[in-house]
Amino acid sequence: MLRFLKPAVAGWILLLPLAASSSEVVVYSARNEQLIKPLFDRYTEQTGVTVRYITDKAGPLLQRLEAEGRRTPADMLITVDAGNLWHAAEGGVLAEVSSPILEANVPANLRDPKGRWFGLSERARTLVYSTDRVQPQDLSTYEDLADPKWRGRLCLRTSKKVYNQSLVATLIARLGEQRAEQIVRGWVENLAAAPFSNDTKAMQAVAAGQCDVTIVNTYYFGRLQKKEPDINLALFWPNQDSSGVHINVSGAGVTRYAKHPEAAQALLEWLTSEAAQADFAGLNMEYPVNPKVMPDATVSAWGQFNADTLNVNEAGRLQSAAIRLMDRAGYR
Ligand code: FE
Repeated sequence: MLRFLKPAVAGWILLLPLAASSSEVVVYSARNEQLIKPLFDRYTEQTGVTVRYITDKAGPLLQRLEAEGRRTPADMLITVDAGNLWHAAEGGVLAEVSSPILEANVPANLRDPKGRWFGLSERARTLVYSTDRVQPQDLSTYEDLADPKWRGRLCLRTSKKVYNQSLVATLIARLGEQRAEQIVRGWVENLAAAPFSNDTKAMQAVAAGQCDVTIVNTYYFGRLQKKEPDINLALFWPNQDSSGVHINVSGAGVTRYAKHPEAAQALLEWLTSEAAQADFAGLNMEYPVNPKVMPDATVSAWGQFNADTLNVNEAGRLQSAAIRLMDRAGYR
């Protein structure tokens, strides 16, 4: 709808009295409509503030924000993965926000230290194994999947996906580049098949017996389990005696050239509140970032785990190093 706004019309909107113009927020969202619309509708009901939005993939939305510069109609960017949020912040399209509410609702490791973005939901990237061919005691860490005992038994999603780039970036942050490269080389040697285009295909390969273990975001496991309740797969929480499970976020920031910055910040604060967090996380079977809010019943049933406490910002900072490392290691 926004793309039909002509410059003259956009200018006219800016001339509206402040009270009228701050009763709306314009959002660019890389999260699907089905995941954000119910929340925005509720926000409008409660506050009278209209939320207009467009949805697209993370890359095109960021390019659009950069190209529009100060003319952008967007007040807020919602996207997934700390790598993408980091790029948006580095690209200069997000404003620094200082808010005691956001700082109380979002743990420090799940937001930008400069306040340019804040996690809205937490996702865990963990192991999924075949309950037919693997005992949970055979599994331990991400690093252990490089051990020759897993030769021909590992499936992975492609290294092109930002989720795996972030995972490898945190390996670099924790273990250094040399050790991280050894691990990734070990994974590649253990692959039973060429990397898959998505997490679901990798799990289906495990279920079908093509391999025994893979690494996925838990909400994909949740979706598959919902469709096939008796599927011969289970989740495993690795690195429980060391770094914890690799986590990432979906998150949002107020744009640098927001026309309604106060209204955008108020919406962001509400999205991290106890009122909104259960739905924001629950609609995609993710974990709330607000520690006062419990995950939904399906997600809670997967059990508790120790999560990595490294600031997810590191995943962005080391992302290009991770991409180069995976390339050297032959991980396609
Ligand atoms: Fe995803």
